[in-house]
Amino acid sequence: MAGEVHQCQCAVCAAGEDGVTQAAHRQINVLLSQLNEVQRRWYGGSLSQQAGGPSDRELMRITGLDAKTIRRGRRELRNGLAVADQKPKKR
Ligand SMILES: [Zn+2]
Repeated sequence: MAGEVHQCQCAVCAAGEDGVTQAAHRQINVLLSQLNEVQRRWYGGSLSQQAGGPSDRELMRITGLDAKTIRRGRRELRNGLAVADQKPKKR
């Protein structure tokens, strides 16, 4: 999967009439293609929290990430990027 760029499935890109948005979504997917699984999650979580940014549902279409992945990325970002399954939780 590394190096493979996801094709955005959102309505805007499908219509093909908004070059700015299409380019933005393509760049998101180019960047995602270079990240590992954990980083992809965090980037998705970060995008989902941007003011005026896409909803989770739109983000799924744009990035191909699933809702669970986006939610988890958001949660981990809030927790200071604590990855539950890689490091034991410490306080
Ligand atoms: Zn798109």
